[in-house]
Amino acid sequence: MDDSHDLASGTGGITYTRGMSPARDTEDQLRLLIASVTDYAILTLDERGYIASWNPGAERIKGYRAEEILGQHFSRFYPPEDVARGKPRWELEQAVRKGRFEDEGWRVRKDGTRFWANVVITALFGEDGLLRGFGKVTRDFTQRKEAEEQRELDRLREALRIRDEFLSVASHELKTPLTPLQLRLTSLQRTLENNPESLSGERLARDLDVANRQVRKLADLIEDLLDVSRLSVGKLLVEPEPVDLTALTREVLVRYGPQAAQAGCLIDVEAPGPIEGRWDRRRLDQAVTNLVTNAMKYGAGKPIHVRVGVDEGLAVLRVRDEGIGIAPEHQHRIFERFMRAVSERNYGGLGLGLFITQQIVEAHGGSIDVQSQPGQGAAFILRLPLAPPPRGN
Ligand code: ADP
Repeated sequence: MDDSHDLASGTGGITYTRGMSPARDTEDQLRLLIASVTDYAILTLDERGYIASWNPGAERIKGYRAEEILGQHFSRFYPPEDVARGKPRWELEQAVRKGRFEDEGWRVRKDGTRFWANVVITALFGEDGLLRGFGKVTRDFTQRKEAEEQRELDRLREALRIRDEFLSVASHELKTPLTPLQLRLTSLQRTLENNPESLSGERLARDLDVANRQVRKLADLIEDLLDVSRLSVGKLLVEPEPVDLTALTREVLVRYGPQAAQAGCLIDVEAPGPIEGRWDRRRLDQAVTNLVTNAMKYGAGKPIHVRVGVDEGLAVLRVRDEGIGIAPEHQHRIFERFMRAVSERNYGGLGLGLFITQQIVEAHGGSIDVQSQPGQGAAFILRLPLAPPPRGN
């Protein structure tokens, strides 16, 4: 026969050497274990909640010595407001009903200070099925809680900082198109009042064109702001309809032709032919516009290469510029809300375009990626299934 036998059932698999009395020894060992644990307060309560046993961990965490606390009701560890609400009794009831009750909350030490406790109360039933009392294990999670609160505070501070920075950038951005718009309109009005016959149709057309462009910029900014506030409430919904991605891309390029010329960007397009899919036309237009206008902004004076095609069953749009590029450490962050990898002194922008573009693409079940070498330009690649996934996915 084996030298030892395993009492796996009921003792957690402790193996005993032959010759020892397993039952008595288990009790001794358990007592020794509980008596040596200082990280956990381990105590037992009678069936009404009066303290029946106390270990050094309980003394360390709660501050009472055994002789001070044995026989007292365990509700004295709870803040007065919890006692008034009947929480200690309710916890025992829960433990009886479910066998076990777990809670995290404030508890009170002997000196009146509070600590953040993780508490597990287990109902102890005898073999006859009658309630004998409760086992209670408490851990002091104050440090963990403080660290969590500090992290949360840091996160909130950072969010506030980003919001403040965003507000200052946003007001600056909204003002930028407004100033030339106001100047044009004031100057037109003056001419009309003082010298109307000098107002040529050509000048009027030019001024109106400038004014229109500034209004469009303002409208785009406001639309982005609205999108972001909508997106913070819920997911972007798309309304798919038949769209030709090639035609849509060409439309965007024609619309931004004058701006590209002004930025000194020659745009070449490579497109095999129509690419038909079911997409939200307005949203897709917005996504393509964001990529193209970014290429003009960050790649001014250099050519832009646009390619549309189908690859492995996905519609693919690639917009590549030869501009400033993006440092590797920023490449994954530029899709975040308000995230900008350039200084606001050098480039305007709210840091929302790519965030919204990514939301649009993902709402269609697609993806957006960036490839870039700093100083050598950036390529944004948009991949879209030919039809978006059904809503709710
Ligand atoms: P915005 O252009 O308004 O700052 P975006 O969300 O469109 O906001 O872009 C986020 C950031 O990504 C930009 O601030 C810029 O640092 C970087 N970025 C976007 N497109 C390009 C590009 N084509 N080349 C270089 N950097 C880019």
